[in-house]
Amino acid sequence: MKKPATYLGNPCKRKHFYKDTRKTLRLKTSKYCIECQRDWTSTYYKENKTKLIKRSSDWRKNNRKKYIESVRKLEASQRKNLEDTYIKKLLMKNLNLKYNEITSEMITSHRSYIEIMRKHKEVKLLSKNI
Ligand SMILES: [Zn+2]
Repeated sequence: MKKPATYLGNPCKRKHFYKDTRKTLRLKTSKYCIECQRDWTSTYYKENKTKLIKRSSDWRKNNRKKYIESVRKLEASQRKNLEDTYIKKLLMKNLNLKYNEITSEMITSHRSYIEIMRKHKEVKLLSKNI
Protein backbone atom coordinates (compact mmCIF):
# COMPACT_ATOMS: atom_id res chain seq x y z
CA MET A 1 0.00 0.00 0.00
CA LYS A 2 1.14 3.54 -0.76
CA LYS A 3 2.07 5.83 2.11
CA PRO A 4 -0.24 8.83 2.44
CA ALA A 5 1.24 12.25 1.76
CA THR A 6 2.27 13.97 4.98
CA TYR A 7 3.97 17.12 6.21
CA LEU A 8 5.39 18.40 9.49
CA GLY A 9 2.90 20.81 11.02
CA ASN A 10 1.99 22.41 14.33
CA PRO A 11 2.00 20.09 17.36
CA CYS A 12 -1.29 18.26 17.91
CA LYS A 13 -3.34 18.43 21.14
CA ARG A 14 -1.91 15.15 22.36
CA LYS A 15 1.66 16.20 21.57
CA HIS A 16 2.58 13.51 19.10
CA PHE A 17 6.00 14.81 18.08
CA TYR A 18 7.71 13.39 15.05
CA LYS A 19 11.08 11.91 16.12
CA ASP A 20 12.97 14.63 18.01
CA THR A 21 11.31 17.54 16.28
CA ARG A 22 8.71 19.60 18.12
CA LYS A 23 6.38 19.12 15.17
CA THR A 24 3.57 16.73 14.39
CA LEU A 25 3.37 14.59 11.28
CA ARG A 26 0.07 15.44 9.62
CA LEU A 27 -1.89 14.13 6.65
CA LYS A 28 -1.87 16.48 3.68
CA THR A 29 -5.47 15.70 2.80
CA SER A 30 -7.10 16.29 6.20
CA LYS A 31 -4.30 18.11 8.10
CA TYR A 32 -5.03 15.56 10.84
CA CYS A 33 -2.25 14.22 13.11
CA ILE A 34 -1.27 10.82 11.79
CA GLU A 35 -0.86 9.29 15.29
CA CYS A 36 -4.23 10.59 16.52
CA GLN A 37 -5.83 9.28 13.35
CA ARG A 38 -4.25 5.84 13.89
CA ASP A 39 -5.43 5.69 17.52
CA TRP A 40 -8.89 6.79 16.57
CA THR A 41 -9.17 4.27 13.74
CA SER A 42 -8.04 1.31 15.82
CA THR A 43 -10.24 2.24 18.81
CA TYR A 44 -13.19 2.84 16.56
CA TYR A 45 -12.63 -0.45 14.79
CA LYS A 46 -12.31 -2.38 18.06
CA GLU A 47 -15.46 -0.83 19.50
CA ASN A 48 -17.54 -1.37 16.38
CA LYS A 49 -15.99 -4.50 14.94
CA THR A 50 -19.17 -6.62 14.74
CA LYS A 51 -21.22 -3.74 13.41
CA LEU A 52 -18.62 -2.91 10.76
CA ILE A 53 -18.24 -6.51 9.67
CA LYS A 54 -21.99 -6.91 9.40
CA ARG A 55 -22.33 -3.67 7.49
CA SER A 56 -19.77 -4.66 4.88
CA SER A 57 -21.17 -8.16 4.56
CA ASP A 58 -24.66 -6.67 4.06
CA TRP A 59 -23.26 -4.34 1.43
CA ARG A 60 -21.66 -7.24 -0.42
CA LYS A 61 -24.95 -9.12 -0.36
CA ASN A 62 -26.96 -6.17 -1.65
CA ASN A 63 -24.39 -5.09 -4.22
CA ARG A 64 -23.32 -8.43 -5.59
CA LYS A 65 -22.45 -7.12 -9.06
CA LYS A 66 -20.51 -4.12 -7.81
CA TYR A 67 -18.68 -6.29 -5.32
CA ILE A 68 -17.65 -8.90 -7.89
CA GLU A 69 -16.63 -6.13 -10.26
CA SER A 70 -14.42 -4.49 -7.63
CA VAL A 71 -12.78 -7.80 -6.70
CA ARG A 72 -12.08 -8.46 -10.38
CA LYS A 73 -10.55 -5.01 -10.83
CA LEU A 74 -8.37 -5.50 -7.77
CA GLU A 75 -7.21 -8.93 -8.91
CA ALA A 76 -6.50 -7.66 -12.41
CA SER A 77 -4.28 -4.89 -11.10
CA GLN A 78 -2.54 -7.31 -8.70
CA ARG A 79 -1.87 -9.61 -11.65
CA LYS A 80 -0.67 -6.78 -13.88
CA ASN A 81 1.69 -5.35 -11.25
CA LEU A 82 2.77 -8.76 -9.94
CA GLU A 83 1.89 -7.78 -6.40
CA ASP A 84 2.88 -10.01 -3.48
CA THR A 85 -0.74 -11.01 -2.84
CA TYR A 86 -1.10 -12.27 -6.39
CA ILE A 87 2.17 -14.21 -6.36
CA LYS A 88 1.32 -15.69 -2.96
CA LYS A 89 -2.01 -16.93 -4.31
CA LEU A 90 -0.23 -18.52 -7.28
CA LEU A 91 2.32 -20.24 -5.08
CA MET A 92 -0.41 -21.51 -2.76
CA LYS A 93 -2.34 -22.90 -5.69
CA ASN A 94 0.55 -24.30 -7.72
CA LEU A 95 2.69 -25.69 -4.92
CA ASN A 96 -0.11 -26.48 -2.51
CA LEU A 97 1.42 -24.31 0.21
CA LYS A 98 -0.16 -22.55 3.15
CA TYR A 99 -0.17 -18.75 3.35
CA ASN A 100 2.43 -18.62 6.14
CA GLU A 101 4.74 -21.14 4.46
CA ILE A 102 5.56 -18.67 1.70
CA THR A 103 8.73 -16.66 2.26
CA SER A 104 9.65 -13.34 0.68
CA GLU A 105 12.48 -15.08 -1.22
CA MET A 106 9.92 -17.40 -2.82
CA ILE A 107 7.83 -14.42 -3.85
CA THR A 108 10.85 -12.60 -5.30
CA SER A 109 12.07 -15.57 -7.29
CA HIS A 110 8.60 -16.47 -8.55
CA ARG A 111 8.08 -12.86 -9.58
CA SER A 112 11.23 -12.92 -11.75
CA TYR A 113 10.10 -16.24 -13.20
CA ILE A 114 6.74 -14.75 -14.22
CA GLU A 115 8.45 -11.67 -15.64
CA ILE A 116 10.69 -13.86 -17.79
CA MET A 117 7.72 -15.93 -18.96
CA ARG A 118 5.78 -12.79 -19.83
CA LYS A 119 8.72 -11.39 -21.81
CA HIS A 120 9.02 -14.74 -23.55
CA LYS A 121 5.35 -14.62 -24.51
CA GLU A 122 5.73 -11.07 -25.85
CA VAL A 123 8.67 -12.09 -28.02
CA LYS A 124 6.71 -15.09 -29.33
CA LEU A 125 3.74 -12.88 -30.21
CA LEU A 126 5.98 -10.33 -31.91
CA SER A 127 7.71 -12.93 -34.04
CA LYS A 128 4.33 -14.35 -35.05
CA ASN A 129 3.24 -10.96 -36.38
CA ILE A 130 6.28 -10.39 -38.56
ZN1 LIG B 1 -1.78 13.50 17.62
